[in-house]
Amino acid sequence: MRSTRSDLVHEGNFVWSHRPLIESGILASAADSLDSMPTLGVDLVEEILELKRDRNALILAHNYQVKEIQDVADYVGDSLGLSYQAAQTDADVIAFCGVHFMAETAKILNPTKTVVLPDLDAGCSLSESCPPDKLAAYLQQHADKNYYVIAYINCSAGVKALSDVICTSGNAMKIVNAAPQDRNILFVPDENLGSWVIEQTGRNMTLWRGNCYVHVEFTREAIERIKAEYPDAPVVAHPECTYAVRILADEVCSTEKMISYCRAHPSPAFVIVTESGMLHRLRREMPNKIFIPGPTDHCACADCRFMKMNTLEKLHAALLNLQPEIILPEPIRARAELPIRRMLELSA
Ligand code: SF4
Repeated sequence: MRSTRSDLVHEGNFVWSHRPLIESGILASAADSLDSMPTLGVDLVEEILELKRDRNALILAHNYQVKEIQDVADYVGDSLGLSYQAAQTDADVIAFCGVHFMAETAKILNPTKTVVLPDLDAGCSLSESCPPDKLAAYLQQHADKNYYVIAYINCSAGVKALSDVICTSGNAMKIVNAAPQDRNILFVPDENLGSWVIEQTGRNMTLWRGNCYVHVEFTREAIERIKAEYPDAPVVAHPECTYAVRILADEVCSTEKMISYCRAHPSPAFVIVTESGMLHRLRREMPNKIFIPGPTDHCACADCRFMKMNTLEKLHAALLNLQPEIILPEPIRARAELPIRRMLELSA
């Protein structure tokens, strides 16, 4: 079935005329909120909110979390926004619904608070592509370069501790522009974000060869197909996508910027090329607009298996037991705090 622009514009027709697309998973449901109101888990949500009050806890959730977790969180956002929230909170407990490096970042900024991650196995392929020992060896091997190390926040505490400054996809250009002009830059661990920043800033950088397994699943062919199907819908892509995908996008930006871009843009429909959890946030904030998941070559199901490890049940258990808790060796935590604080100051 081929949809026309009028299918997209007339919201009244949307639920019915797109039902086959929704059922096939291509247009994974702007009708989420209509079809799957959380009749299950109501008690669980109430218990989570009660535990949150008892513990004086803050629930932070990344934009890629499942919708049930986004709906119960105090704050939903990207890594930059979450870092600011973690830095400013006066809660005693932070329940971080995201992946391991994000909860670590919250702990680095809050050494005296209890930080729990609902599933301790929620890792990140990008973070794992740059182990601290390999980075340390590389820096030692290339000591003559005197690298200024800029680390994308998607890395372990050990890598942060070896870095000069941290960046997120939301502030990477600002951070790179602020780097000392007389230093060589090593950008870790995401080569796609790094190459996008080089394109934007013109600053030469050496790139670590890491990537996110979810974002590299989007291909030029798949995006060309969805563009042909929805020619009037702007394509909004995350900079962790490959160059072949980024050049097809109307806008390349962080997940947080996706919100402001889509809100300000007059188009009623957008193709969103990032992890699937972002669609819930966009649909919740702009119920009158239509968000079409950017497809991969296999499906329209760009789920990060790590992000999806957290569930309401695990969040409940984490608040109840204050486990699994993030614990960091103090020397690494203290060293890792410096480049994070530098980032927060530079992006204020
Ligand atoms: S979406 Fe990619 S970068 Fe984000 S947590 Fe998953 S694997 Fe890591």
